[in-house]
Amino acid sequence: MTFSLHGVAVSRGIAIGRVHVVERNQLEITEIRIDEDEVENEVVRLHKAVQLAKQHLREVREHIPSSTPLEIAAFIDTHLLMLDDAAFSEEPARIVRQTRCNAEWAVKLQRDALVAVFDEMDDAYLRTRRDDVDNVVDRIIRNLLRHQQLRHEVPDQKLKAMIILASDLTPADLVLLQHHGVAGFVTEFGGQTSHMSILARSLGIPGVVGVHHARRYIKEDETVIVDGEDGVVVGAADERILAEYRERQDQRRRYVAGLQVLREAPAVTLDGVSITLHANIDLPGDIDSLRDVGANGVGLYRTEFMFMNRSDYPDEDEHFNVYRQMIDTLAGAPLTIRTADIGADKPTDAGPDTGSLAANPALGLRAIRLCLREPSLFWPQLRAILRASAFGPVRMMIPMLSSIDEVRQVLDVVATLRNELRRRDIAFDENMPIGGMIEVPAAAICADIFAVELDFLSIGTNDLIQYAVAIDRVNDAVSYLYDPLNPGVLRLIQMTLDAGSKAGIAVAMCGEMAGDRRYTRLLLGLGLTEFSVHPAALLEIKHLVNTTHRASIQGYAQEFLNTTDANRKRELLALLDGQQG
Ligand code: PEP
Ligand code: MG
Repeated sequence: MTFSLHGVAVSRGIAIGRVHVVERNQLEITEIRIDEDEVENEVVRLHKAVQLAKQHLREVREHIPSSTPLEIAAFIDTHLLMLDDAAFSEEPARIVRQTRCNAEWAVKLQRDALVAVFDEMDDAYLRTRRDDVDNVVDRIIRNLLRHQQLRHEVPDQKLKAMIILASDLTPADLVLLQHHGVAGFVTEFGGQTSHMSILARSLGIPGVVGVHHARRYIKEDETVIVDGEDGVVVGAADERILAEYRERQDQRRRYVAGLQVLREAPAVTLDGVSITLHANIDLPGDIDSLRDVGANGVGLYRTEFMFMNRSDYPDEDEHFNVYRQMIDTLAGAPLTIRTADIGADKPTDAGPDTGSLAANPALGLRAIRLCLREPSLFWPQLRAILRASAFGPVRMMIPMLSSIDEVRQVLDVVATLRNELRRRDIAFDENMPIGGMIEVPAAAICADIFAVELDFLSIGTNDLIQYAVAIDRVNDAVSYLYDPLNPGVLRLIQMTLDAGSKAGIAVAMCGEMAGDRRYTRLLLGLGLTEFSVHPAALLEIKHLVNTTHRASIQGYAQEFLNTTDANRKRELLALLDGQQG
């Protein structure tokens, strides 16, 4: 019988397909045949990964605070014992030797065999011990993958057009999934503005997150409908329901195609205010989609994705070559390169641990904090941005600023690197604008100070909202508080806009709020004139801009900011929504 499960909608569009259930971290594992003379090296790799897993666990064990319940230490001891067991240290090695496969694949086969035994057990407690197997396997596989260079160059045909069902996915997982051609995804955890969800929107992969216990109800190979607009997953759909969703898929295609007439049109309000519409880019390849939507530049290039799915940092030339290619494609339109925003829900394999054991990684070593701490990560990127600036209009943008000292430290490093490039006779744009993101309430409140030392500001509402209302953007349990219309958030936005206009510098918005049609007119009314949105949303936002008479809505927007009457707020939103010049 048809059933539906509800979660949080993350990316518009509907996908219909067969389900493939993945365990976390197992996505990255594919079978690779190795040469006979490589077999013993592969076994050594495996043994090293097991040794490293033991070493990590011993370190964790040693650092357990004395107040921690004894059971926690007992868990770790159990896992240490398991790592000593032949089932993990010897059996995978035998599989490598016998089948000449890669170590990851051998560990996965062994895991599947052990889990199958646990799954057969009648005892509910013993059945849950499969989690211990997964934990130990995860540790070994993570170590193996950390020391591997390139993965998944060849798309896995088995995943093509499938719907992926997982407890959770990282942005790095999603990049791989897109590479494999999946049709959609469902996860049991996650919030609407987690980086994974943002990436899904920009990649155009329909998905629903926060579908608790989905794996209890949906099984491998079953056909499901993923409705990324309403946040619903439909299973065992009959022909009538399938036909309904197919019709909705067609409607959406027609709507998107209809917006194409706006591609070459300028973005101007009915009363003649020119609006800048830039695109957010997550992967260099996305740049091609700019042409399809007529974006006049990139307002946010999230460079951190270059650091994912690999065990080292990109070097200066790699950064430079990527930027250079994007500049060429943009042919004179600006490219805003955001320096790496690594950490929190965008961890990478290379570099320091940014807080996997921290209680609140979103409040930890992330973005500019990490970059300033790690010159080996940051300086090559800065040099590459400077060098790239010689080839077209490049703007550099600093994420997650919380104090003006951070701006000054970055500007000092940039000055040092400029001197170095001058000495080496390497060209760069002396006037390359350097801007900062306003994503931390402290920065919004002090936007006037930032506006004096920076060339432009860009409001990152995804983070600004999470930090202003004190919720973690990946936590679906508190996602109901994630409200762009929270008066505290709106005031921070207004303060930033005011600070920019007072200092005479541009203020853009590049968070998801800028690309959400529900807020476009309110933002126009508050004075926003630069929007940076994911390409799929751009034409729809242009349509709204071009049908808005800004002068007539400024009063509504200001009233919205100041009223506390919920009914009046609803009325004002309806008035803004219904405005057609
Ligand atoms: C934001 O926080 O709004 C933003 C654009 O940056 P990111 O989503 O990458 O954190
Ligand atoms: Mg951010």
